[in-house]
Amino acid sequence: MTYDDQNIFAKILRGEIPCKKIYEDKYILSFYDINPQKKVHALVIPKGRYIDLDDFSVNASSDEIVGLLKGINLVAKKLKISAGIGKGYRTLANISEHGGQEVPHLHFHIFGGEIVGKMVE
Ligand code: 5GP
Repeated sequence: MTYDDQNIFAKILRGEIPCKKIYEDKYILSFYDINPQKKVHALVIPKGRYIDLDDFSVNASSDEIVGLLKGINLVAKKLKISAGIGKGYRTLANISEHGGQEVPHLHFHIFGGEIVGKMVE
């Protein structure tokens, strides 16, 4: 599978469609999910063109990998839901068909602001 430049998150990264931005740096962009599943539902995406976590793990640079992982923590802190500041949260990445991935640009969901509930339904 090749990366689809027309996916919705690629368009958000290029500024072609708007988002409610939470945080941005050299490696990541974070914004609120358009269809929140919990009180807090944010997304964290790498700026690079990666389809999913498998693609990212194999092809991203060490700096990009560190930037994304640290970015999740920075966003959780900014939202005041990190373990140190708030009451915690869940992060997850859906991968391909069985994972239920809809947008083919790697993204981590961040759910919080309330008890998130069962891990898998
Ligand atoms: P996936 O199922 O691929 O893991 O999650 C895709 C997520 O992207 C969904 O939670 C969906 O609500 C969100 N989403 C889809 N289109 C948009 C959009 O245009 N803007 C924002 N902010 N989120 C979107």
